[in-house]
Amino acid sequence: KLYNQMQDLKGNIRVYCRVRPLIGQQNSCGVVGSVEEESISLVTSSKNGKEVKKTFTFNKVFGPSATQGEVFSDTQPLIRSVLDGFNVCIFAYGQTGSGKTHTMSGPDNITEETVGVNYRALRDLFCLLEQRKDTIHYDISVQMLEIYNEQVRDLLMTDASNKRYANLVPVSSTADVLNLMSLGQKNRAVGSTAMNDRSSRSHSCLTVHVQGRELSSGNGLRGCIHLVDLAGSERVDKSEVTGDRLKEAQHINKSLSALGDVISALAQKQSHVPYRNSKLTQLLQDSLGGQAKTLMFVHISPEPEALGETISTLKFAERVS
Ligand code: ADP
Ligand code: MG
Repeated sequence: KLYNQMQDLKGNIRVYCRVRPLIGQQNSCGVVGSVEEESISLVTSSKNGKEVKKTFTFNKVFGPSATQGEVFSDTQPLIRSVLDGFNVCIFAYGQTGSGKTHTMSGPDNITEETVGVNYRALRDLFCLLEQRKDTIHYDISVQMLEIYNEQVRDLLMTDASNKRYANLVPVSSTADVLNLMSLGQKNRAVGSTAMNDRSSRSHSCLTVHVQGRELSSGNGLRGCIHLVDLAGSERVDKSEVTGDRLKEAQHINKSLSALGDVISALAQKQSHVPYRNSKLTQLLQDSLGGQAKTLMFVHISPEPEALGETISTLKFAERVS
């Protein structure tokens, strides 16, 4: 109910911006001049050396000192709506190193305080279904996929030769999910070296399917949530890369712009939504548009060297909101 009120105010597509702290300087904003509740300003210098201020607005902005708990509390109502039968997509967008994995999963050494949205979401779901157990019975299952070069790979298969696409694994506790998530991470790391960090060049998608049955009436409902850690959005210089690296870059570029096209078509309520242009948007089609709810976390690196990418990230965000 609370969610529906929020939805009236904010619509089905929301864009939140998160600014990573400068590494080693927890509260500094770098090139981000000011951070307000719903906007940020960048200070850049123009050709004639004058300072130019550019302001971008969002549904919500999290500055460099925002905690994982604060970020989650704004996401929570959306996650709860899954148990009422809604489909939800949460995306983390941004250049490599801007904090996408930090938001979705947490840093390398996770603590109770630093765990990310996906773990908090699952803990919250299990807690809610426990509270509702006298009225509704829920079955929960998860799926973990990776999209690399427009090919979908199941990250939860245990047998490497098993190519069966989209394994759905039933779970009954957050611990079950944590185990599956670490299996998924391990499978994801296969084939990547330090030089070739595949995780930043593929999309990973953790999906939680919820099936509920009301005990009194027998009525059923279904909902799902997709938690998507996108490939890094940085553009590569075509004159500098060739071969596999160029192919990867072209696939990423294509799928991120296809995602942008879909969300912007939905945001503008266009009659044609171009879902068919990438694996990612095909896969998520049922959870993008219609009654479904979308949240895009747009991540910004505050370093002066990142300014070009930061501006293109903010332009992407403007296009989808
Ligand atoms: P991405 O997934 O976009 O490549 P990461 O999430 O791996 O970026 O973040 C890069 C580094 O910055 C990691 O060491 C991460 O822990 C750190 N980091 C990212 N966001 C934050 C934040 N909000 N607060 C503190 N450290 C962060
Ligand atoms: Mg990452």
